[in-house]
Amino acid sequence: MTIVPSSINGAIDPDDESGIKAADRKTKAGPAGRSEVLSAKENPSDRRSDLNLRPQSLSEYIGQERTRAMLEMSIAAAKSRAEALDHILFYGPPGLGKTSLANVIAIEMEAKIHLSSGPALERPRDIIGLLHQLEEGDVLFIDEIHRLNRIAEELLYPAIEDFAIDLTAGKGHATRTMRLPLPRFTLIGATTKAAMLSNALRDRFGFVCRLEFYSLPELAKIVKRTSGILNIEMDGKGVEIIAGRARGTPRIANRLVRLVRDYAQYKGHKLVDEEVAKVALETYQVDMQGLDPTDRRLLSILIETYGGGPVGIEALAASLGEDSDTVEDVYEPFLIQCGFIQRTPRGRVATAAAYGHLGKTAPLGQLTLKLGNDAES
Ligand code: ADP
Repeated sequence: MTIVPSSINGAIDPDDESGIKAADRKTKAGPAGRSEVLSAKENPSDRRSDLNLRPQSLSEYIGQERTRAMLEMSIAAAKSRAEALDHILFYGPPGLGKTSLANVIAIEMEAKIHLSSGPALERPRDIIGLLHQLEEGDVLFIDEIHRLNRIAEELLYPAIEDFAIDLTAGKGHATRTMRLPLPRFTLIGATTKAAMLSNALRDRFGFVCRLEFYSLPELAKIVKRTSGILNIEMDGKGVEIIAGRARGTPRIANRLVRLVRDYAQYKGHKLVDEEVAKVALETYQVDMQGLDPTDRRLLSILIETYGGGPVGIEALAASLGEDSDTVEDVYEPFLIQCGFIQRTPRGRVATAAAYGHLGKTAPLGQLTLKLGNDAES
């Protein structure tokens, strides 16, 4: 049987010049749309700057206190027993630091990390090749693990449970199954959609950790750290302005720092202070809460077209001209987190805060609905 090594996805590709240049061109072009500035999804420009920005130890990793404390204990225990760490699943919106944590774990465990992703492991030989490369104690990181297909998932079960892989050879009556042992490794899965993971796969992880949006002080620390690494002079107010508009997400915080740096350099400002940060972010149409024109349009459709809701996600998405998955995954989480939208059994509802943010007064019904929900909870 030939084993073909899989193409490892997710590693930094230094040759991805075309993508990088395209992203840079867009950034320099001035005010940009949501996909470039406030999307939590990684773009090639993020990938390049991530090279320097990724935390290199648990102590450098800011926030996510509970997860960090748990990892600190488990890593120390696993190291003292000279064993691989138990398998871990991280879930939460994009840009919150799942990949960074996987890297930090590998560094702390002094282990080699292999990066891949659900969609890259399409054929059985992809996953077999990947498992075949593992050595004792290695970390295998699978991003978007909810996108693994059933065959890949089934090949993975014995690998993560028994550290073995079952291979079938031959056809019909001549079919034979061979079990090959694998070294003990740690699987780290990351997903933005934990609900799409099969129970069978989820149950095989020793730890399941949900990453939370970051608080303002945590984001301020990240902004400070990033401007330090990028040699940008920024005062406390400048840091505060950027942190406040980063949508609770380190990836966006880092991107805003880079955009503000470009603006400051272009205008010849040596120091990023409150004024420079504010004007720079206004140029990119990022408002005080970190909302961009699409977020504001979504809120205004909800309020003006649907009288504040409740409205079903499909109708809302159609009015916005997006698909419902994008609305659910990209726009909604932060609007819910900010308290601008509520999910109710009858559909999405705009809160009084959403009316306030758009400079409108909430009708009485909206306030009563909120009070009713509070009373229920
Ligand atoms: P995810 O895998 O959840 O999409 P990443 O791990 O790629 O997110 O994080 C995006 C970027 O944000 C990283 O390159 C890193 O620079 C930064 N980052 C994420 N979490 C933290 C953190 N806790 N402390 C410092 N920087 C962070």
